[in-house]
Amino acid sequence: MQDMAQQDPSQLIPEPDVPALVLEHVRLSYLDAERRLDVLRDIAIEVMPGQTVALIAPSGTGKSTLLHVSGLLERPDAGEVRIGGVACSALNDAARTEIRRTDIGFIYQQHRLLPEFTAVENVALPQMINGLSRRDAEERAKQILGFLGLGERLTHRPSELSGGEQQRVAIARAVSNRPRLLLADEPTGNLDPVTSGHVFDTLLTLARVSRLAAVIATHNLELAMRMDRRVTLRDGVIVELP
Ligand code: ADP
Ligand code: MG
Repeated sequence: MQDMAQQDPSQLIPEPDVPALVLEHVRLSYLDAERRLDVLRDIAIEVMPGQTVALIAPSGTGKSTLLHVSGLLERPDAGEVRIGGVACSALNDAARTEIRRTDIGFIYQQHRLLPEFTAVENVALPQMINGLSRRDAEERAKQILGFLGLGERLTHRPSELSGGEQQRVAIARAVSNRPRLLLADEPTGNLDPVTSGHVFDTLLTLARVSRLAAVIATHNLELAMRMDRRVTLRDGVIVELP
């Protein structure tokens, strides 16, 4: 106690947690020939490090749009997107790409792995693009793949892996650069229920051990119940679910 009292008091106060993702008053409409579709009307959400959020809503309600806006793949018409405290709406495309590369991991329903590369190479590539040597990138790729239970599949190409294994490689790739935010768009939509459960558990464990924030769009209520929070989209607005 006495030692602590002699320290600089500012060092005793922990850094306040910065949300991994904040959306404020986000609006986005698509213009058709005939009409305007207001997909996101006034979106507000805050996701803290280590928190997992299930996004459960019917098809066509704007889940993918919301994930694309959160992942800086699409610009909203209005509102602010903050990644790790950085306001992104006024940034140019190059700065947004940089944040996407260092802070955000994306997982799609289809794995989108490069077919001619092995599991290790698929996970190493984004790290090499971020400046790591091939040796270091492959070393880290092997560690992540090992953690995800793919230690015996390192040199397999996507076509030589099962659907669940492919999706776990896609997860490894998405987290290879230690992002603060993971966005997944129906990542188990193509998998059978048992495999979906395994892939989901992997995702949730990963989020918790690495303080990764995750927003996962899913139709699977049972899997959603394992996450920290559940939200839905209703008329372009986010509504928290129990
Ligand atoms: P979800 O992922 O929940 O199924 P989406 O975000 O893909 O929903 O789409 C929301 C709505 O916006 C849908 O009605 C869809 O048809 C429409 N939409 C999505 N992308 C575009 C686009 N690029 N141009 C026009 N309409 C779009
Ligand atoms: Mg979708």
